[in-house]
Amino acid sequence: MDYEIVIGLEVHVQLLTETKMFCSCRNQFTHEPNSNVCPVCIGMPGTLPVINKQAFELGILGALGLGCEIPELTKFDRKHYYYPDLPKNYQISQYDLPVSQNGIIEVEVDGVRKKFGVTRAHLEEDAGKLMHESSHSNVDLNRTGTPLLEIVSEPDMRSPQEARAYLEMLKLILQYTGISDCNMEEGSLRCDANVSIRPRGETKLGTKNEIKNMNSFRGVEAALTMVVDELLRQTEAGEAIRQVTWGYSIDRNQIFKMRVKEDANDYRYFPDPDLPAVHVGRDWVEAIRARLPELPLAKKDRFMKDYGLSDYDAGLMIQDKKMADYFEETTRISNMPKEAANWIQNDLARELSSRKVAVEDTAMKPEALAELLDLVSKKTINVPTARRVFMKILDGDTASPAAIVEKEGLAQVSDTGPIKDALEEAIKANPKAVADIEGGKPATAMFFVGQIMRTMKGKADPEAVAGVIAERFGIDPEILKSNKKKK
Ligand SMILES: [Zn+2]
Repeated sequence: MDYEIVIGLEVHVQLLTETKMFCSCRNQFTHEPNSNVCPVCIGMPGTLPVINKQAFELGILGALGLGCEIPELTKFDRKHYYYPDLPKNYQISQYDLPVSQNGIIEVEVDGVRKKFGVTRAHLEEDAGKLMHESSHSNVDLNRTGTPLLEIVSEPDMRSPQEARAYLEMLKLILQYTGISDCNMEEGSLRCDANVSIRPRGETKLGTKNEIKNMNSFRGVEAALTMVVDELLRQTEAGEAIRQVTWGYSIDRNQIFKMRVKEDANDYRYFPDPDLPAVHVGRDWVEAIRARLPELPLAKKDRFMKDYGLSDYDAGLMIQDKKMADYFEETTRISNMPKEAANWIQNDLARELSSRKVAVEDTAMKPEALAELLDLVSKKTINVPTARRVFMKILDGDTASPAAIVEKEGLAQVSDTGPIKDALEEAIKANPKAVADIEGGKPATAMFFVGQIMRTMKGKADPEAVAGVIAERFGIDPEILKSNKKKK
């Protein structure tokens, strides 16, 4: 039988606020366990929570980025459960009146744009952490009360690949809005998934399985694929599908059963009597909406339209908002978008990654890259020399590219006189190569390109070199050019 996969995701992101969700503890990672806590966040009786306005606004900003509606009235509820990392025995969350709902995210899956629904995005507080030792476990409440936005999707994804693409776009949008750093390795973006299968054509949802706490894109796709395989196997074998909650180990790339549920959880939600319902005025929403930046896919479309970038190049340029800004600034100055995109996605990206430097901190500023592109386009320097100048700047030379070319005498030599001299010298030293060319192996002439470049310390204009060699041996200069490109 043909089955359809149905996937929905629940994503938690930690908000980049100064303080925690309901108290004035700093919202920052602290090494010393239980050092960043106060009576409110550790749930002492008699304390009162106060809503963090910054967290509230960041939640709305993120929700607007996900295309959500912001209802006029929202409130906080207590979600009851017992766990050692939750001293109050309830988590403050939102139940029937979330801060936002009915969003939509447009995602590219294998080059096709699809829309996936966002059911709701609501605010809540994070719990603490348990650290398990061999004989006992420790409780660290530093994370308790960290502001979270929980984003619940519609069950709109039809494959693990779509789920991954949705999650990647969700993360990118939230990073663009600046509400979270979305660092998955450090747990500031965590993902749970619901997955079920049903015969194709069926509209009722099948029994769902859950996968908890995944923190990588690869992990989400891998774990979902494994659970889907398990559900298909059970169905084919005629077994009844049970409601299983799975964990996933990225180190072993394995799923493992955490628990089998008999009933739905009953968290006994009720409105938190300590917190007022919040009326969200339309002016307030519009003021927050004005802070929304251009979103990734809109930026991609604009880069293709305004700068003539290919789908592939534009897609790469928008993967990091600061990188996109860098690209636009370089292009604004140089007016050479394709060349800028090439340098950024190859040389710059490679060096930033190997030097572990963020694009906004690199010594190679957009002005300098633009100047370098200009020097190449005017043939003042060739591309290998441009790479040398580029590396010099990254290695700490604070002069401009033009000044470096000037002070180090790197300008390209297009004058054929010195090139001819260098060629004659090389011919004298290499009679075998000359014999090969004259004996019907014109490609051997590439050898002399290398010899001339060496003699002239890499500064010869490659086109002039090709022209001189071609003329000297009576061969087609294209032979030398096509080889040169591959190098
Ligand atoms: Zn606190």
